[in-house]
Amino acid sequence: MIYQNSFIRNKSNRNRLCYQAKLEIYGCTASFTFRIFQAGRIGKSTFSHPRVNYNSTMLKNEQKVAFHTIGCKLNYAETSSISRQFESAGYVKTDFHEVADLYVINTCSVTENADRDFRKLVNRTKRLSPQSKIAVIGCYAQLKPDLIAETTAVDVVLGAREKFNLIQYVNFESNPQSPLVIQDVNVEELHGCIPSYSVGDRTRSFLKIQDGCDYPCTYCTIPLARGRSRSIDPDILVQQTQEIVSQGVREIVLTGVNVGDYHFGDGQDLLHLLQRLDVVEGIERIRISSIEPNLLTNEILEFVAGSTSVLPHFHIPLQSGSDKILGLMKRRYKTDLYRERIHSVRKVLPEAGIGIDVIVGFPGEDQAEFERTRHFLESIDFSYLHVFTYSERPNTESINFPGKVSMIDRKMRNRALTDLSDNKNQAFARRQMGTLQNVLFESWESGSLSGMSENYLKIRVQSENQDLVNQIAQVELGIFTDECLQGTIITK
Ligand code: SF4
Repeated sequence: MIYQNSFIRNKSNRNRLCYQAKLEIYGCTASFTFRIFQAGRIGKSTFSHPRVNYNSTMLKNEQKVAFHTIGCKLNYAETSSISRQFESAGYVKTDFHEVADLYVINTCSVTENADRDFRKLVNRTKRLSPQSKIAVIGCYAQLKPDLIAETTAVDVVLGAREKFNLIQYVNFESNPQSPLVIQDVNVEELHGCIPSYSVGDRTRSFLKIQDGCDYPCTYCTIPLARGRSRSIDPDILVQQTQEIVSQGVREIVLTGVNVGDYHFGDGQDLLHLLQRLDVVEGIERIRISSIEPNLLTNEILEFVAGSTSVLPHFHIPLQSGSDKILGLMKRRYKTDLYRERIHSVRKVLPEAGIGIDVIVGFPGEDQAEFERTRHFLESIDFSYLHVFTYSERPNTESINFPGKVSMIDRKMRNRALTDLSDNKNQAFARRQMGTLQNVLFESWESGSLSGMSENYLKIRVQSENQDLVNQIAQVELGIFTDECLQGTIITK
């Protein structure tokens, strides 16, 4: 890693500095500018925050660090990579519920009650270990750094880019009255894409292939927190896939903000990446985490159908089954295209798992528009829904839209679609009864193995053999009960 920096004074009356830096990691170069609040002095050629010693990033022996991740798979991948930096520097990783010297919270801006949950977590952590330092990173830290610094007892708040340099900021005296806050001035200036993948869960690893989003969805804060779409060099992703496979991980989940928008250099798109990863020696399972309907091409479907490692499971956000609401959301498709994509999946991969995100209670969604969504969903063949209740978020276009839906109606609509999801999920699962499925077992408890089929059904098998955890076996599926299919192992 090459790390260069220089300082420019900013005329702001808040003793605010602009800090320019060039960062090179894994061949990705990024130039960027960020703000430092409450910094006391500026060194002539190197940064000298009064409480930060940049020359001593390696800690005293046996310092303990604990991580907590809120939000998406991308956050998990990034937390995991940051935690490996700490372990390489000699820190001992510990559970977040244990006493540690440093607690790192990787935040989200999307989850409901993000602010309240984050505050609770900080307070609980301070009660557990009052002398410890708390560092806050992630999307919420990028969007609300001042609020976090002013209203919670944390020590460091780092924005979108600097989170990967956290280790350089933590060896200082704790003083939550004056937290160190570094936030990118403008996420538009984020050009590089820092590679990350998660390890720790033996069966599955989240591999980040892409970050940011160029889409303008009116309810979404992710582009504000993570910047424009950018992708990781496929050569690096092949190398990381080899690393993950060599650690005995069976399944890799391709992760990003807008995975279908993966593009690197000339013509290297998601299909190209799948073709590269599919032939990595030892690769067993690749899952695409989520893909926008307008980006799920027939070529991708045909490739998946012919691949032994890329799994027949697609999570395809819909968000609304009303064309009027899709227009207000500024989604890039209408229901006709969505329906046609689902038909194409079913034509090429009849038993693929299909998951759908849907938002209820978006402004302007009156009862008639909601019923349109419900009928649309009833009319298509999918295996589960993720139902989100719309909530107003600062800095989004939709916060000012007329036609707000009452909270009671939002909750009732969520309930209605959750029930629909349960029914569709059961119907899809029952359709698989009697079939043979390859199942990756993830856990064992009280004589029962649990795992996931290739098409993302939860399967349970009665067995005393705990060694089958992290193994793939062929299972004959039996009855559907307790929200999962019961099965019998045929071959290992
Ligand atoms: S596609 Fe829309 S909802 Fe998804 S990250 Fe981009 S802007 Fe947000």
